[in-house]
Amino acid sequence: MTGGARPPAPSPASDARRPLVVGNWKMQMPLLRAAATARAIVQALPPLPDREVAVAPPFAALLPVAQALDGSPVLLAAQDLFWEDEGAYTGEISGPMLREAGARYVIVGHSERRRYLGETDRMISLKAQAALRAALRPIVCVGERQDDRVASRHERIVGEMLLRSLEGIPEEATPDLVVGYEPIWAIGTGCAASADDASEMHAALRDRLRSRFGASAARVRILYGGSVSEQNIDDLMSRPDVDGALVGGASLRPQSFARIAAFKPHA
Ligand code: PEP
Repeated sequence: MTGGARPPAPSPASDARRPLVVGNWKMQMPLLRAAATARAIVQALPPLPDREVAVAPPFAALLPVAQALDGSPVLLAAQDLFWEDEGAYTGEISGPMLREAGARYVIVGHSERRRYLGETDRMISLKAQAALRAALRPIVCVGERQDDRVASRHERIVGEMLLRSLEGIPEEATPDLVVGYEPIWAIGTGCAASADDASEMHAALRDRLRSRFGASAARVRILYGGSVSEQNIDDLMSRPDVDGALVGGASLRPQSFARIAAFKPHA
């Protein structure tokens, strides 16, 4: 989808808790390589009818990547959006613009944006609401620092961060809502959370969601992110509350990303 008529809204009810694997390309590749990488991913992926796969290129590569993905099952995602739908906001991009480019998902509140751009939970909640207004599914990222984990306050810190980041999100939005649990100490370090640690945190986040949305919390997908690889994905995806993965470094390598997307949970 490269512009023109507005694409139809996604049909959330049909894929509640359907596993989702998202590649976040960050600012990591020359724009000229983005469409070729998208095509290589499409080529490398086996048929995966039971799950969703998406890639999030930088804004300037959205349209060429949308063209490269056209007709394939791989969905387009964006790495951020602004909380207003239009107006004099130099340098920003809106939810409706992302939809027009063909995006279905948008990452909000990535720890790199919280750290380098000073994004707050309040801004992130506004961005998540803006995404939903534009029929985009927000992937709301939360995660703790190493010192929070060492001091055993990670569940409280991340749980509170999550609730603040979801302010203003109505219960009806739960089928479209995705949470990304990304411990900061695991991002780009090669040191992923163990499946046990990830699973414990995902269960704690599900409890927080239940306190906020009641039974509808069961419809929210919770992705794990932080040094996901071909080696650890099957273990992670074998855990009940791990509904998918956010993949940084490995998503730049089509064969690795395809293997991760084709995860096989243990029996
Ligand atoms: C990320 O930053 O979203 C991420 C998960 O990165 P990596 O897989 O490289 O740790």
